[in-house]
Amino acid sequence: MSALSLPIHPITHNPTQAWEELRRSQKIIKLNVKTPQTPPDEHMLRFVCMSDTHCLTSHLQFEIPYGDVFVHAGDFTRCGSASEVEEFNGWLASLPHKHKIVIAGNHELSFDPKFTGGMSIKHHHKTAHTGDGLINEIPDLGMERDELKAAVAQDNTVDLITNAVYLQDQAHSICGIKLYGTPWQPEFCNWAFNVPRGRQCMEKWEAIPEDTDILITHTPPVGHGDLCCTGVRAGCVELLSTVQSRVKPKYHLFGHIHEGYGVTTDGKIIFINASTCNINYVPINPPIVFDVPIPPGFSK
Ligand SMILES: [Zn+2]
Repeated sequence: MSALSLPIHPITHNPTQAWEELRRSQKIIKLNVKTPQTPPDEHMLRFVCMSDTHCLTSHLQFEIPYGDVFVHAGDFTRCGSASEVEEFNGWLASLPHKHKIVIAGNHELSFDPKFTGGMSIKHHHKTAHTGDGLINEIPDLGMERDELKAAVAQDNTVDLITNAVYLQDQAHSICGIKLYGTPWQPEFCNWAFNVPRGRQCMEKWEAIPEDTDILITHTPPVGHGDLCCTGVRAGCVELLSTVQSRVKPKYHLFGHIHEGYGVTTDGKIIFINASTCNINYVPINPPIVFDVPIPPGFSK
């Protein structure tokens, strides 16, 4: 096993309890961020952030503000079927933003090689540990199991995203501002991009470069935008320690926990849960917008 940069929290498997302990030494401030009414300054890059639209972009209850960069932090479909991805891609084309960035979430089943069998064994017989076999083992979350099977039987749906840059454990730079996108989350119904809490989550976060300005994950870290209506915290303890102690991005954008929508800060990092859908899957929460200064030597 390779050495990790940071220790694993002893009660990482119970984020609610871990946060009760961590919060004693944490600052947490809720921010009321208003959408700017003036056009973006030429020295600033304006980010417009959404997530968890779940095939409901035709029912949005708000206008999408103009900006330079549109970011979607995952869960744009219900199960990642080709028709859902194509519809989302068509909607992306209709947005006026010059740069568009997308990551996947736990609902994009067909984006996760665990379900599709991966590139190398595509077209081969699917075993009990991939595709149909795995679909039979996960909770259906109220969807038809045949629909889930059809979704993961598709060839490479990632390629259907042609109107945005798709990031999966990858960095991307816009006007000198460094972004990194990753879809992984602590185990949650064993849907797409799930990893066990603790070391395996931390191994995913270890890949995040230290010079990241804007981190995009699907999962929240513990303590910020991760409080479920049941009173349980679903965020990742290791993700919080990674962003606070190692990566220190200016912004950390995510979704996943619909009821956690909003903006908070620990006094240094701005944490944004941009979930568009509320807990009842109504696309009611407007995009979160912020301006980032363009570094010297770069321009729009
Ligand atoms: Zn969602």
